[in-house]
Amino acid sequence: MKILATDGLAKEAEEYMKKNGHEVDSVSLSPEDLKKNISMYDGIIVRSKTKLRADTLEMASNLKIIGRAGIGVDNIDIKKAAEMGIPVVNSPTASTHSVAELTLGGMISVSRHIHTADRSIRGGKWEKSKFKGMELHGKTLGLIGYGRIARHLAKLCTAFDMRIIAYDPYLSRDAIESTGAKYTENVMDIASESDYVSVHVPLTDSTRGIVGEKFISSIKNGAVICNYSRGGVVDEKALLNGLDSGKISGAALDVYEKEPLSADSPLLKYDNIVFTPHIGASTKEGQLAAGMTIAEQFVDFFMGKDPKYKVN
Ligand code: NAD
Repeated sequence: MKILATDGLAKEAEEYMKKNGHEVDSVSLSPEDLKKNISMYDGIIVRSKTKLRADTLEMASNLKIIGRAGIGVDNIDIKKAAEMGIPVVNSPTASTHSVAELTLGGMISVSRHIHTADRSIRGGKWEKSKFKGMELHGKTLGLIGYGRIARHLAKLCTAFDMRIIAYDPYLSRDAIESTGAKYTENVMDIASESDYVSVHVPLTDSTRGIVGEKFISSIKNGAVICNYSRGGVVDEKALLNGLDSGKISGAALDVYEKEPLSADSPLLKYDNIVFTPHIGASTKEGQLAAGMTIAEQFVDFFMGKDPKYKVN
């Protein structure tokens, strides 16, 4: 079969598919070129950059399977693919550790001003008194969404003796409390009890703006907000208001309402935000696992087996 990978793919994954008799083209294509060429392929593998909207899928007359080397499938028109009888598969477990570790890195960086102290030293300064920080030790981490990434982050943070509280309406009290976290059925408890709020949900109608004006107006004074899930889950205007009023002491962000983040975004004026350019899953281990999970499902699928992580 002919497989196209448009956003890069781990070499090992490409090799695995080739070894199993498939042809793999790993090339980055403009949206126009993708539309022109997609009909040549039986399978396509994307990360988050390539958008597979209805107008592109309509041109994919030979397409039999779509792979998302990662978890979020918001760049793919799942409904259209289902209508066309094309399964979409992803790799939901591949980036769990990578994203949780980066989130912890953001929490520490914003608390100890690592990013600004680094810039200060590079500017030839030695500003010891400017960078008084805050320990994670003994603080409360409030998690919105308690899936794979949030649970792994909770595990890491318990090593800092942090108290964990979690809000996830799709999980039972037992499922949450059996991990040692406190359960709440009211997201506003996360606002009022947490020193750090971290959001780990997909972007849906129910999560868009879940950390918004109402949430931030009730947030514990001096809390830190982390978003390593999807832009739009944290309302950026509300976040800026919270930073201006001093209600929020800082933020750690990997994802934005509009990506790439524009160079004139008002967010960039704030030294107490630590930024990364949507690299939560970008580790050697994460990319290898994501690529291999898709490659194995493609090989299985073309041998007539059911793929393991089908999302539509
Ligand atoms: P997961 O599916 O294991 O967990 C998501 C959890 O969110 C689920 O337990 C679900 O019940 C919960 N949820 C859904 N709607 C909710 C709501 N309205 N309120 C509270 N909880 C709700 O997913 P995961 O592997 O933990 O990943 C979480 C998110 O992280 C993904 O959806 C993806 O958008 C994002 N992500 C980002 C990166 C990155 O590069 N920054 C990489 C991977 C994943």
